[in-house]
Amino acid sequence: NRFDSLEPLESSISDSERFKNSAQLTLRCPNCKNEFLFGGIVASNHYTICYNGLKCRNCDHLYSPIQLSCQLERSIRAQISLYYAGWVQCDDSTCNNQTRSISVFGKRCLNEGCTGVMKYRYSDKQLYNQLLYFESLFDVSKNKSQQLKPLYSPDDSDKPTHKLPTSQVAALSEQNRELFEIMNSVVQKYLSDCGRRYVDMKSIFSFMGPP
Ligand SMILES: [Zn+2]
Ligand SMILES: [Zn+2]
Repeated sequence: NRFDSLEPLESSISDSERFKNSAQLTLRCPNCKNEFLFGGIVASNHYTICYNGLKCRNCDHLYSPIQLSCQLERSIRAQISLYYAGWVQCDDSTCNNQTRSISVFGKRCLNEGCTGVMKYRYSDKQLYNQLLYFESLFDVSKNKSQQLKPLYSPDDSDKPTHKLPTSQVAALSEQNRELFEIMNSVVQKYLSDCGRRYVDMKSIFSFMGPP
């Protein structure tokens, strides 16, 4: 069945593995314009999750729920535009022919002598995973059990020196439940669209092969 990848992913896969190719969520403080990566209720040099929401560490601005949801929605839309730009790429690494126009392409690369196959550079599965990643950041139970994809790699110079205490993360997860549910509903709006479209795209462009 070619819709296999729509089914729930195995719970044995960690978020770090599942979302390894997903783009991080970048936020921009509405007050001081400082840009930073958001990774849920984790230690960061740029933001704090406090009992009543998200606070910029640079200027102490407390995000209103609408300021946060607007920025989340903007990031989702940016990812969806990337997907719709429709770049396809030859899978032969010695060729790497790329084009935006899929209409003139069959499965085969049209570069002379190339036997490669054209594939979506940003696949529907990747977009679907990207939305699931954004959703995970505002998942109360995932935050609580600290199962989120790490915000920083171990050798990142911006990596905070300490972790948040487990009990503090648990308390903050509960205190921000309402806010996180608002954020979750923003992602859900696109996720259900994407799921439906995912099936459509698969049947329309099935000649492209699996992502
Ligand atoms: Zn700020
Ligand atoms: Zn090629």
